[in-house]
Formats: sequence, C-alpha cells, structure tokens
Amino acid sequence: MFLVDADNPGFRIVRKVPTLDLGWPGGHAEVEFVDCEVNDDAVLGAVGEGFEYAQVRLGPARLTHCMRWLGAARRAMEYAVRYASARESFGKTLSEHQGVQFMVADSEIEMHAARLMIWHAAYLLDQGDSNPRHLSARHETSMAKVFVAETVNRVIDRAVQICGAHGISEDWPLALLYREHRAFRIYDGPSEVHRMSVGRRVFRRAVAAS
Ligand SMILES: Cc1cc2nc3c(=O)[nH]c(=O)nc-3n(C[C@H](O)[C@H](O)[C@H](O)COP(=O)(O)OP(=O)(O)OC[C@H]3O[C@@H](n4cnc5c(N)ncnc54)[C@H](O)[C@@H]3O)c2cc1C
Repeated sequence: MFLVDADNPGFRIVRKVPTLDLGWPGGHAEVEFVDCEVNDDAVLGAVGEGFEYAQVRLGPARLTHCMRWLGAARRAMEYAVRYASARESFGKTLSEHQGVQFMVADSEIEMHAARLMIWHAAYLLDQGDSNPRHLSARHETSMAKVFVAETVNRVIDRAVQICGAHGISEDWPLALLYREHRAFRIYDGPSEVHRMSVGRRVFRRAVAAS
C-alpha cells in the first residue's frame, strides 16, 4: 500500500464521474495509473501487506459510514415527526393517523436495532487482541452494514412520504438525504455480496461444528 502524489507523471484523473449523490468533497473520480513509480518513503507500513491492511480497515470504515448515515436517518425522522405533528389532514393532525404512526414506529424500531448492531460490532472491534475476531469483526460489520444501509434508505423514504411535497422539494433537506444515501446499499459492498458472505460463514460454521 502506498501514497501517490497528485503530480506524479504516472497518475492521471481521467474524469469526474457524474453520480446520483453530489455531497462528497471532490466527487468521485476515474483515475489511471500508467508506469506510476513512487519512492520508498511513499510506502505505508510493510511491503506486501497492503491487502491485509485494506481488509483490516474495512470493518471500522463500514461502521463509521453506518454511524454517519444513521445520523442522517435520524435527521429525516425529526423532520417527519415535526411535520406530522403540525399538519392537519382529514380533521386531525397527521400524527393522529394510524397509517402515519405505523410508519414512524417502523422507523423508530429499525433505527434502534441498527444502533444496537453498530454498537455491538464496534464493541467487538474494541476488544483488541483479547478477542481473536477483533481484527475485522467481519461477520458483525457485514450484518450491520446491510441492515443499517437498508434501514437508512427505508427511514428516509418514509420521511419523504410523510412530508409530502415538502419531502420532494429542495426547500427541506429530505430530497438531498434521499439522493445522497441510495449509494450506501452499493458501496463498501452491495447488500447482496454481504449477504452472500454472511450466508457462507453460517454454512462454514455449521460444517465445522458437525
Ligand atoms: C458513489 C460510489 C462511491 C464509491 N466509492 C468507492 C471507494 O471509495 N472505494 C472503493 O473501493 N469502491 C468504491 N465504490 C465502488 C463500490 O464499492 C462498488 O461499486 C460496489 O462494490 C459494487 O461493485 P460493482 O460496481 O463492480 O458492481 P457489480 O459487481 O457489477 O455488481 C452489480 C450488482 O450485482 C449484484 N451482485 C453482485 N455480486 C452479487 C452476488 N455475489 N450475489 C448477488 N448479487 C450480486 C448486486 O446487486 C450489485 O449491486 C463506490 C461506488 C459508488 C457508487
């Protein structure tokens, strides 16, 4: 694993890729490396260990995504609750309609479960050397990543629905949150690939235990 200076002649930014999400500083770039050479002092850690470092970093990186995005879901919920408490429709506030209560309840329940999954995976990572699985807590961070990514998308989607036209307009941040968080189910591993890994581990453990 090594660092490449942006002015290295072997490195080129081909283009900035236009994406659904717009909020990442600098955006997402397509880059090209051709005969790219770096000095020894550009190497991070030990030579030949880069893949291992990348793997170890994945667990904490996924969790920090989860924490940040769960905060965004909470913000969306706050808008939905505030709007539903004030807006009257068919003779009562939206918050008094059971259909809206159910949506808010589902979001509250799922966010609570998501938070506990993040805490548990973070706890495992924090165990350090006393827990042989601490290095990545791969199983738990994978499960948390899938659950939190899907929860965040559902919670923001419900908030947009509850807020009606305000959810769609750019006057409020809900449209932005909706747009910015769709990619979460894809990057750092799509939900399907995490499910595949989780499922495989379950079967491997069953075979090992038999
Ligand atoms: C905005 C954005 C930022 C990104 N930033 C980074 C970054 O900083 N670093 C980085 O390394 N990567 C980054 N990525 C890449 C991202 O991790 C990959 O796009 C992602 O892992 C999916 O790989 P892919 O695009 O090659 O899709 P493919 O591998 O072609 O998969 C496409 C779809 O097929 C399905 N699929 C794939 N495999 C399976 C399977 N085994 N079983 C069932 N279904 C499957 C899934 O639904 C998946 O979404 C970013 C992507 C986006 C969109």
